[in-house]
Amino acid sequence: MPELPEVETVRRGLEPVMTGHVIATVEARRAGLRYPFPGNLAAALTGAKVAQLSRRAKYLLIHLDNQQVLIIHLGMSGRIAVIRPGEDYQLQKHDHLVLTLGDGGRVILNDPRRFGIVDLTAASQLDHYPAFKNLGPEPLANQFSGPVLAAALAGRRNSIKAALLDQRIVAGLGNIYVCEALYQAAISPLRIAGAIEAAEADLLAAAIRDVLNRALAAGGSSLRDYRKADGELGYFQHQFAVYNREGQPCPYCDCEGRRGNVIQRAIQHGRSTFYCPAHQK
Ligand SMILES: [Zn+2]
Repeated sequence: MPELPEVETVRRGLEPVMTGHVIATVEARRAGLRYPFPGNLAAALTGAKVAQLSRRAKYLLIHLDNQQVLIIHLGMSGRIAVIRPGEDYQLQKHDHLVLTLGDGGRVILNDPRRFGIVDLTAASQLDHYPAFKNLGPEPLANQFSGPVLAAALAGRRNSIKAALLDQRIVAGLGNIYVCEALYQAAISPLRIAGAIEAAEADLLAAAIRDVLNRALAAGGSSLRDYRKADGELGYFQHQFAVYNREGQPCPYCDCEGRRGNVIQRAIQHGRSTFYCPAHQK
């Protein structure tokens, strides 16, 4: 599932392709994904010029010069492919939305599981868009810090794992980067959120930024290849310390004299949590 770094990497990849270009044609190849496409999608996009691309949490925002904003969420399995002008490409089964730009390039949303979202809003209404109204701070923005995180966690009786997945506390984190950040901060995902101390919140805020920035750096290097034949943007392989590594040695603990520490998997709220019980306290 794409989280903040994946969506930001898609944004950075699309920015030079789309900015300043007119959307010449819009082809919706089905009626919608998780929700129906807006009825005025083609009318709102066709002929509009892309002014800029931004991101809020896991949402990609394509700002048009007609004061409309195209909102895309990649859901569970969404990908965006870029087809260069003049490049041969046969549309595939799960290519659901095709934007052809004025230069002939194409931007294609492919989503096999169809949990993605495509929506429109007026630029003036963006802050009131339902998904954005109650979002917490962007973790890479200046307003996010240990004290801000500590204040948001105060009094919370659920686990720190659940709290960090709550988009009202911090925006854009999903299962992967929550597991990785808790690991890096040496905090057990089973801890009660409200019991996280100020010094731990400082460590955790720093760890969140660090895992996201490292993922972005990995995406940044794969971005150089984004113009390759399939032009696919959306996912890249990172080296995860704990995520999906159940039963494997903890990279932090597994040294002489402390052998046998392996990554554990717990189920919290129906989702897998990966952690090292030896050093995450
Ligand atoms: Zn460990």
